[in-house]
Amino acid sequence: MIHDVIIIGGGPAGMTAALYALRNGKSVCVIEREGFGGQITHSPRVENYPGIASMSGNEFADTLMSQIMNLGADIELENAQQVIKTDRLFNVHTEEGSAHQGRSVILATGVKHRLLGLDGEQELTGNGVSYCAVCDGDFFAGENVCVVGGGNSALQDALLLSAKCASVTVVQDLPALTAEQVLQKQAMHRDNISIQTNARVTALLQQDGQLTGIRVQSDQGAPRDIPCSGLFIAIGLVPDNAPFRNLAALTPQGYFDADERCLTGTPGVFTAGDCRNKNIRQLTTAVGDGAVAALAACRYVDAVMADHPDGC
Ligand SMILES: Cc1cc2nc3c(=O)[nH]c(=O)nc-3n(C[C@H](O)[C@H](O)[C@H](O)COP(=O)(O)OP(=O)(O)OC[C@H]3O[C@@H](n4cnc5c(N)ncnc54)[C@H](O)[C@@H]3O)c2cc1C
Repeated sequence: MIHDVIIIGGGPAGMTAALYALRNGKSVCVIEREGFGGQITHSPRVENYPGIASMSGNEFADTLMSQIMNLGADIELENAQQVIKTDRLFNVHTEEGSAHQGRSVILATGVKHRLLGLDGEQELTGNGVSYCAVCDGDFFAGENVCVVGGGNSALQDALLLSAKCASVTVVQDLPALTAEQVLQKQAMHRDNISIQTNARVTALLQQDGQLTGIRVQSDQGAPRDIPCSGLFIAIGLVPDNAPFRNLAALTPQGYFDADERCLTGTPGVFTAGDCRNKNIRQLTTAVGDGAVAALAACRYVDAVMADHPDGC
């Protein structure tokens, strides 16, 4: 079967793109390699999605999934590895050995937060470990938290958390912070922020599946345990877009180089969500991109079909 739209990535951006394309009468295949819902399924509570006071990330993902399934989306739990354009069609090849044919492609591959790589990190995500202070900071009001990292994101997290938490300890492995001076000055002036440079987190401490602290090793001296109920890891985001660079140019950081219109340099190929070059990576911006990319893909398919009614 040739689908009108093939979407790579079943996160909020990809599933929203599917919703919009299906409601425009297009046939859609969504290919997801891990679990439908993407990053948001790691969030126990989402409280910044307009119109919905509170929901879990899984509730959001399940509802969106039902919506697209009810509209007839084809879904594949596969890892898309390569897309080859042949004349007017795109062939999406997966690690599992399938080849899916489509008239257009939406790349919605998201990002991964860079992990510390410590034992228990995955299990404690959502149980004390977070990668999103904007999203999860309120859950730690009045408590002691740590932030790992020393760049802009880490210090923005620390400043945001210091307004609601009892104390914030920033742990940076380099000799100095790398964030902009203005952020560093603001952090220095907050009484409840302390900064430890030349210090590496070497272990996550836990009890009954809940984070209770971190172990930190500085350049000199013995390891030290810092009790905390929250650990915000801000050591960078990692896109995983390289397999598709033949279709869409990448920025030096590895994001798809597309603007607010979600167009790539290849006609028929669009991109949506956290995987594209943008400033704000949130649920609202991901679903917004999904809608924009889907409607652009629908217009593209309509034009191709008008010129080539045989469908190829
Ligand atoms: C713990 C946590 C809490 C958060 N809380 C909030 C919050 O409260 N509010 C908020 O607005 N935002 C929150 N966010 C951010 C929000 O989840 C993201 O901005 C949003 O999920 C981005 O959606 P996306 O579809 O662009 O990417 P993703 O959610 O990253 O989805 C991309 C999907 O593509 C799949 N994929 C990638 N490559 C391939 C491939 N080659 N083949 C097949 N599938 C592939 C991935 O497996 C993934 O499922 C949170 C993020 C985290 C990690």
